[in-house]
Parts: sequence; structure tokens; C-alpha cells
Amino acid sequence: MRIARAAEAAGRNAAEVRLLAVSKTWPADSVREAAAAGQRAFGENYVQEGAEKVDALAALGLEWHFIGPLQSNKTRLVANRFAWVHSIDRLKIAERLSAQRDAHLPPLELCIQVNVSGEASKSGVAPAELPALAHAVAGLPRLRLRGLMAIPEPTSDVALQRARFAALRELRDRLNAGGLALDTLSMGMSDDLEAAIAEGSTMVRVGTAIFGSRS
Ligand SMILES: *Cc1c(COP(=O)(O)O)cnc(C)c1O
Repeated sequence: MRIARAAEAAGRNAAEVRLLAVSKTWPADSVREAAAAGQRAFGENYVQEGAEKVDALAALGLEWHFIGPLQSNKTRLVANRFAWVHSIDRLKIAERLSAQRDAHLPPLELCIQVNVSGEASKSGVAPAELPALAHAVAGLPRLRLRGLMAIPEPTSDVALQRARFAALRELRDRLNAGGLALDTLSMGMSDDLEAAIAEGSTMVRVGTAIFGSRS
């Protein structure tokens, strides 16, 4: 509903914006309920918790996205359970996923996480280092680099929200002008999805507004 309204306000087709339901901290039964209501794509932040849910719900044929920080000693738990990883910020992580992804599975879809807020946030690659990382990741087998992800600093200043999302879109456009073909902007959460959709988001990651507040 909010997605449809935001897309309309931005003169975009709502079908261009996918909804990723962020189920971190919620039990498998909550995912089951959302799946019964028609939701197919789910996002998880924590490796162990996410891997357990993926395994418990394997029969449902859901599409799982890993969106949290990923340490190199945990890549094996992610490489063959998830369809997407949104939080690539180092080449080493992508190389491990590439080596560990089963050849009989479709390529693992990736987004590179970019730190668009500068000092305020520690996760994500710095914009200046993005082109080298993106071209290196795009060359790895068994992976498909789809786009960019960002988690800007929380703010109620809509102009600032939009500026951060616009910056991510411009980085994507520059990479595409440099020869890549990135179709995904993973940006927007419960509190800022309207601004993200106005600036071109193709995937919003929504937890609280679907499942309620996490305790
Ligand atoms: C928790 C989380 C979300 C969802 O946040 P809400 O504010 O609950 O919608 C989205 N993306 C990432 C990376 C998250 O960690």
C-alpha cells in the first residue's frame, strides 16, 4: 500500500519496486504467516538465525536474501542457502562466496553495500573505492552483481533521506556508464521507503512495518 502510493507519487510503476520482508528476530512461524499471505522474498541479518530459518522453511520455496554484516568465516553458511546477498563490502567476502556457491545452483545475486553517510556509518564500502570493488566482483564466477545497497543514517529530514538515496542512484548510474549493467537499488526501510522510492529504489527492505517492532 505505501509502496504503491509512493510509486504513484514518484510517477513510477509500483511493479518496479520489490518488497523484501525483513524477518530478522521473528520466528519461522511469522515467516510462514507472511508466506501464506503471498510474500515470497525474505531478508535475514544474522547468519545462524537466518540459516536455521532457511532450512526450517525449505519446503515453502521462498527466496531468501542475506542483508546483514558477513564475516569471512561465516560465508559457507550463506553461499548455498540464500539467493541474494546485499551486504558485500570487501572483495574477500565475494571471492569466498564465489568459491563456495554450488555450481548446480543459479548464480548468487549480489549487491554491494555503500557507505553513503560518511562517518556516521561504519558498514559499506566508501564511494571512492566502489568502482574497483564493483568491477572485481562482477568478474567472479557463480555470482551476479545486480546493484547497490545502502543503510543511510536514520533521520526524519526527508531532504537528507532523499540526498543519500540519490547519491546511491548516481553511483549506480556511473558504474553502468562504465560498462556494468546494474539493475538493482536496494534502499528504503520502514521509516524512509517513500524517499527511497522517489529516488529510484527497486527493492525496499521492510521489517517493522510488516511484522511489528522487534523487542
Ligand atoms: C533491520 C533491517 C531492515 C528493516 O528495518 P525496519 O526499520 O524494521 O524496516 C532493513 N535492512 C537492513 C539491512 C536491516 O538490518
